[in-house]
Amino acid sequence: MFTIDTIPFGIFTVKNRRKKVATIIGSQVVDIAALANLGYFKDLKIPKSVFTKEYLNEFIALGKNKTNAVRTRLQEVLAQPQQLPTSVFYNETDVQLHLPVKIGDYTDFYSSEQHATNVGMMFRDPANALLPNWKHLPVAYHGRASSIAVSGTNFHRPKGQLCPDESQPPFFSPTKRLDIELEMATVIGKSNSLGESVDVNEAEEYIFGFQLFNDWSARDIQKWEYVPLGPFLAKNFFSSVSPWVIPIKALAPFKVPVAPQTPTVLPYLQEENRHLFDVELEVYLQTAAGTETKICHSNFKNLYWSVSQQIAHHTVNGCNLNVGDLLASGTISGKEPESFGSLLELTWGGKNPILLPDGTERRFLEDYDTIIIRGYAEKDGIRVDFGEVRNTVLPAV
Ligand code: CA
Repeated sequence: MFTIDTIPFGIFTVKNRRKKVATIIGSQVVDIAALANLGYFKDLKIPKSVFTKEYLNEFIALGKNKTNAVRTRLQEVLAQPQQLPTSVFYNETDVQLHLPVKIGDYTDFYSSEQHATNVGMMFRDPANALLPNWKHLPVAYHGRASSIAVSGTNFHRPKGQLCPDESQPPFFSPTKRLDIELEMATVIGKSNSLGESVDVNEAEEYIFGFQLFNDWSARDIQKWEYVPLGPFLAKNFFSSVSPWVIPIKALAPFKVPVAPQTPTVLPYLQEENRHLFDVELEVYLQTAAGTETKICHSNFKNLYWSVSQQIAHHTVNGCNLNVGDLLASGTISGKEPESFGSLLELTWGGKNPILLPDGTERRFLEDYDTIIIRGYAEKDGIRVDFGEVRNTVLPAV
């Protein structure tokens, strides 16, 4: 249930009508384009056309002064919903939600220390799990935007080269180690020019908001292909995001300070008011029979590198970020085993299978398994919901 403290933005259609910008309160989707036509934002001097686009990008590009003013106005008018025409409301079940942002470039970070340690222990050397660079810079790679889809989109198990025993030649097969990665996506809300670096203490100005993100991964393809340039076909077959973008302003009450980093980072990564966001994150596995089991409970604050540091590092060489770019956090694993954000870690490379209530086990995902990631923040009577990202694995074709 989305509260008045949330007021996210998304793109919806009813039947086959045009796409429009919406928000949601409770389980009621609110047609913002219709409110604009009725004059609710007239004094804000915003072109009504931004609310009837295929994506949120033009709305986001208006800048935070305007988008926050729209959000505040929505909070005011939705506090008295009985004064609004019923024609602006739709039941959540009667609309279709779409990919809200046209993603330009997609970067995937690797910013949870526990995740990097776990993967380093399994794939490399348990004694030296973190590589020497890891605590000096937020490690990342450039991913692929074209295969990022919205919640509800299902996909076929990917195929590729596997080579579990490198004394033997590789073979072609559907992945046998299909996995998830629990991540948070940052939507960039302001562009920097080519050649311009973003100061770490101003980086939040460049964040429009956040979505839940699942970086689906084929571990066996990854193990064979990733040296020396990193993930490629193990990752780019499919990724998924939740349909509602939660503006960063909604998370202001949920900022939590974090301990200073050791070793001290270079000056361009040093933040004056270093903080993360306290957002609960849960992963559920639903079998074909419909049983839903919670397999992970983590938190957005389980990151070593903040999103501001990611942005400062991404642009320190003059690389330009654009409105609509997506930065994924990297798998968010906490210290406790139940907070590990991938099956790779939860089952420790398949050694410790998860027992499901129906008596079956999972090391990695089976066909027709559904993964649901949910997120929320709650404190002092304020609740911000992220909704969910839900996708089902279909058999390989
Ligand atoms: Ca990832």
